[in-house]
Amino acid sequence: MQTTKLNLQDKLPLTCSRSGNCCHGKRVNLNPWELNSLATEKKIAPREFRDLYCEFGGIRLKFDGKIGWDQKEACSQYIDDFGCSVHLGRPLACRLYPLGRQIQSEKVHYIYEGDEFPCLKPCPEVLDLPQLSVGEYLQGQQTEKYENAQDGYLELMQDIADVAFELLLDTGLAESGDKATLPLWREMGDDLPEVLADKIGAEWIDCLMIPEISDEDPIAFMAKHKELIFEKIQESFGGLQTHKEIHEASVLIMGVALHLARGLGANPEELAELWVDTAKSNGAQE
Ligand code: SF4
Ligand code: SF4
Repeated sequence: MQTTKLNLQDKLPLTCSRSGNCCHGKRVNLNPWELNSLATEKKIAPREFRDLYCEFGGIRLKFDGKIGWDQKEACSQYIDDFGCSVHLGRPLACRLYPLGRQIQSEKVHYIYEGDEFPCLKPCPEVLDLPQLSVGEYLQGQQTEKYENAQDGYLELMQDIADVAFELLLDTGLAESGDKATLPLWREMGDDLPEVLADKIGAEWIDCLMIPEISDEDPIAFMAKHKELIFEKIQESFGGLQTHKEIHEASVLIMGVALHLARGLGANPEELAELWVDTAKSNGAQE
């Protein structure tokens, strides 16, 4: 998909007309801290929020509301004639829209999809509203905390994937001539989200998406979440003996990393390819 790259000074018709049109027919991914923020805003437990309003174990909001703009279903959090029911806890994707965010060579770029400003089709009235610079818009949407959470979870995703690498490369599994692990990493990159969620299983999905952490600050939340995930890794994989057990653990934990990746808006297929190539360049075979 073609994108238009923006500078913070660029002025665009970024004052929202509040029609709610873009709360219909979209895909809104969630990281675990965002799921927790939404549940807090809704005043229910994260597990309840996840079970009622999310798909695939919590990585995406359901869009199963009333049909509205363009014959598309509304977000599960959208209320007709009112708007977003979780406005103060809305996730980064909603705060940024119509903009998006890309990270290339560790630099953040703000973009919009296509070559035409995305609000013009659903809400042409924005042309009559005041223009804002990209920087002013981001400040107004208070994106900073949400961007920190997103970046922190991207790091945690890589840390989890690194465990899959260690299990394959540092335990003698790859050296034993194993050719079964990498095809399964690759296959999981292609899996539909519901298939991958099933493969990971409820226990790991719960640990990944609804950890029992009450801290609302994203940095503290993520630090505790990382601790919980690594305690579980130690408990589950600390005493592995056979190559078969290590192979299964490497596949499972890579599945967890790829599922989190999807919730962060990354492309699991491309990541799986990249990680398979990296493992092969370090001596693993498929
Ligand atoms: S499409 Fe743009 S102007 Fe319309 S409701 Fe969404 S953000 Fe606001
Ligand atoms: S969370 Fe709120 S802002 Fe985001 S799509 Fe749903 S209703 Fe719209």
